[in-house]
Amino acid sequence: MSGLKKYAAPLLMLLIFEAVAVTLWLTKGNLFYLFNFSYIGISIALGLFLYIRKYRHARRVVQLLVGLYMLVYLGLIRGENMQIEGFWYYLFTGVFEAATIHYAVAKIFGPLIFGRGWCGYACWTAMILDFLPWKTPEKPRKKLGFLRYIAFALSLLFVAALFLSGAGELEKIMFWAFLIGNAAYYVIGIALAFAFRDNRAFCKYVCPVTVFLKPMSYFALFRVRCDKSKCVDCGKCRRVCPMEVDVTDNSRKRKNGTECILCMECVKNCPKKAL
Ligand code: SF4
Ligand code: SF4
Ligand code: SF4
Repeated sequence: MSGLKKYAAPLLMLLIFEAVAVTLWLTKGNLFYLFNFSYIGISIALGLFLYIRKYRHARRVVQLLVGLYMLVYLGLIRGENMQIEGFWYYLFTGVFEAATIHYAVAKIFGPLIFGRGWCGYACWTAMILDFLPWKTPEKPRKKLGFLRYIAFALSLLFVAALFLSGAGELEKIMFWAFLIGNAAYYVIGIALAFAFRDNRAFCKYVCPVTVFLKPMSYFALFRVRCDKSKCVDCGKCRRVCPMEVDVTDNSRKRKNGTECILCMECVKNCPKKAL
């Protein structure tokens, strides 16, 4: 029984994803959804299991399992544009499929429960950026967050222009947009990481998806909290945080609170087990 309690989090995550998988399979009449969400649920549950077993690369295992699946299988092989342009595209066509479902689950409503878990465990852009050497920022934060709104507006304008221009072969254009968009994200993300000595600079300043992720994760159910009776204010948690979150402040307005990617570096490194 204690074993079951110890592994409650991976079991719960598996159940949530299975519920989504079965519901979508039955309501949409498409077996793909059963496979897709079961695969993601099993990957996340495996990562949580490895984390509980204190395997230090647990998060990276999930990131690679989910990130590569989405980039290579869904994106390149199945030709689904899962980037923000794909979301606008399916939204404009009025189809609740692929990217719209993905955005609803992972990036719009899901963050109300698991915050920015997507950014820590599944994003295929960050999957590559996290291989770079600047795990924590080595330079002060810049005031460049406005760039995300420009990127957001450009993605929307691009898809709106496609529809307004009456361009043909939209599916083909969206596939090329996926290839070019991803390549651009990697180039910009790596360049920013080098310039600011910060692997996650792209996430902090440019990524348009954060326009959804930040406000929704403000209300997240799962958050890292600090037990003030144990904390000795050593500051270690803040020094190891890739997103510069003031995790010792339990209020929802804590500094950079909507940036937390639930990577658990702070929890692992707290000498007093206060987190
Ligand atoms: S902020 Fe954007 S690029 Fe960074 S992990 Fe999240 S979705 Fe991926
Ligand atoms: S690492 Fe732990 S003890 Fe140190 S400031 Fe953070 S929560 Fe407090
Ligand atoms: S180190 Fe802690 S506060 Fe910082 S992103 Fe990771 S889980 Fe969130």
